[in-house]
Amino acid sequence: MNNQPIPFNRPFATGNEFRFIEEAIASRHLSGDGAFTMKCQGWLQGHSASAKSLLTHSCTAAMEIAALAFDLSPGDEVIMPSFTFSSTANAFALRGAVPVFVDIRADTLNIDETLVEAAITAQTKAIVPVHYAGVGCEMAQIIEIAEKHGLYVMEDAAQGVMSTYRGKRLGGIGHLAAYSFHETKNVISGEGGSLQINDEALVVSCEMIREKGTDRSQFLRGEKDKYTWQTIGSSFLPSELIAAFLWAQLSEVEQITRDRLLLWDSYHELLEPLENDGLLQRPFVPAECQHNAHMYYVILPESVDRQRVISAVGAQNIQLVSHYVPLHSAPAGKKYGRTPETLEITDLISSSLLRLPLWVGLEYDQQVRVVEALRAALKIQVD
Ligand SMILES: *Cc1c(COP(=O)(O)O)cnc(C)c1O
Repeated sequence: MNNQPIPFNRPFATGNEFRFIEEAIASRHLSGDGAFTMKCQGWLQGHSASAKSLLTHSCTAAMEIAALAFDLSPGDEVIMPSFTFSSTANAFALRGAVPVFVDIRADTLNIDETLVEAAITAQTKAIVPVHYAGVGCEMAQIIEIAEKHGLYVMEDAAQGVMSTYRGKRLGGIGHLAAYSFHETKNVISGEGGSLQINDEALVVSCEMIREKGTDRSQFLRGEKDKYTWQTIGSSFLPSELIAAFLWAQLSEVEQITRDRLLLWDSYHELLEPLENDGLLQRPFVPAECQHNAHMYYVILPESVDRQRVISAVGAQNIQLVSHYVPLHSAPAGKKYGRTPETLEITDLISSSLLRLPLWVGLEYDQQVRVVEALRAALKIQVD
């Protein structure tokens, strides 16, 4: 029997990364904002029809720029799901703002838009929807609420490159948005990210925050004859070596996404009988959302011991992994955040979600092995 290891993730390389990195070295421009950064930013800007895209060294960094650009003060509140990565909350908590956690929808696992308005107080400054698994949040209602209350919207689109919501790219909808190119995402540069600026009025301040608080970007465009320290900022630029790697990936993003969607669809089909047998629940993608196959997850029945499933499938050399420990129940979430209501769906989902291996190069036979191992592990517990 084939017992080759099937890891949860295997970062994909297009084969052009070295060539572009060599070109960057030959150009003798190794710091940020060289030719490869411009290529990546140009692509990203066109992709999401943003006013501007700025490459950063991580999605976390892009969200930190956003928190600075929103000019938050200690005590200001930012509404977000608890079912997300620490960076979503941390970027705002760094500014002394309070992450306010609301529950998610049981179908998409995205922030429940019907709960957002009740969480708004006089201190609320922004709403931060997170597009889980690259499936869009209900942005029309979120934008409507934000406009009504004069709030900013920042999309955590870390997982959302190439996805759309009602025909618009994720990352191109809120005032600001952040993409991630961490090696676990669809398009990668090891570590990496970008800030998508969709509100023209925020372009100059975001540029300055990213460039150590200076107006260097305007100086380089010839709009200023010298550059000086203008505001609070930091160094959020990736070097050209990172941008060169990323350019190789962005150049093949269409193919990468097609490959991933095929794998996602195969899982969806292979797992249908297991769902019909009550062994698990498959993901749901609303009709107005085109996703990017960032992730394939299943939700296990409450009675199932997830760790036993992970161990049993792991014994077949197949790596399945859980996901977020909800932020509202994490030590820093309790200290820095506020949770107005109980988050029943968040708690339930986080304890019963399981992610399956999905990476470019995964074979159909391997997917069959994953599904068979999962079926066997669940049958023992459910029957
Ligand atoms: C990956 C991820 C991040 C962090 O991205 P980095 O590029 O590692 O900083 C933030 N939010 C979500 C939802 C993510 O999936």
